[in-house]
Amino acid sequence: MSTVRKPITPKPARLREKVLVILQEQCKQCGLCIEFCPKKVLCFDTSKYNRKGYHPVTACDIDACVNCEFCERICPDMAIFLADKDEAKKAYDAGTMEENTIIPEFEEEVK
Ligand code: SF4
Ligand code: SF4
Repeated sequence: MSTVRKPITPKPARLREKVLVILQEQCKQCGLCIEFCPKKVLCFDTSKYNRKGYHPVTACDIDACVNCEFCERICPDMAIFLADKDEAKKAYDAGTMEENTIIPEFEEEVK
């Protein structure tokens, strides 16, 4: 067995192929997605209410998202999911998304 140490090459960061979409009007502020997100990406937007009177979920740290889909699987109201990036971008640019739908990754790009 060789005793020569080999250099460690770090793996490239995993590229996110999908984007997070949040239908804020459907959110009931149950907090499940926030609790189950392993990367602490999500939080409540306490600066606004949806039509149901809840503070909807938003992304506080979208750069940390790893596309694991836990939030999509756990949400009982299908208010949060991952979507194909190109398709989502088309809808975002065309303004054809439902009212109060946010795609945090694109909103960060606009800033
Ligand atoms: S896909 Fe995973 S990492 Fe990204 S917001 Fe949802 S639970 Fe968090
Ligand atoms: S799990 Fe769904 S309904 Fe509950 S806080 Fe998250 S987005 Fe809103």
